[in-house]
Amino acid sequence: MICIGCPMGCELTVTKNENGELVVEGATCARGKAYGIQETIAPERTVTALVAVEGKRRPLSVKTAQPIPKGKIFDALESLQTVRAKSPVKIGDVVLPNVCDTGVDVVATENL
Ligand code: SF4
Repeated sequence: MICIGCPMGCELTVTKNENGELVVEGATCARGKAYGIQETIAPERTVTALVAVEGKRRPLSVKTAQPIPKGKIFDALESLQTVRAKSPVKIGDVVLPNVCDTGVDVVATENL
């Protein structure tokens, strides 16, 4: 797999050793090793999207405050289609708490 932790895009290989532990090769930093293990056992992604704002024509840019399980991405995007944020909105304001029962909030990434 390719690490998406930074633009270097290191090529990672994850294998299991004789003790059953996951071993990551090809990562040039600790973040890449952690990514390789996480991606193997339970892949996650940060989700970015646009949501409507009451009384505004322009949508608001938002993202999940932490990565969520990859399998919940489409459910999260569907939930965000129903959100109508209230202006004014500041960066970091929660526009959708606990998206899809992940324990992760969706927050604004801009002031509007
Ligand atoms: S392993 Fe480290 S240096 Fe390589 S792409 Fe991932 S984050 Fe970047």
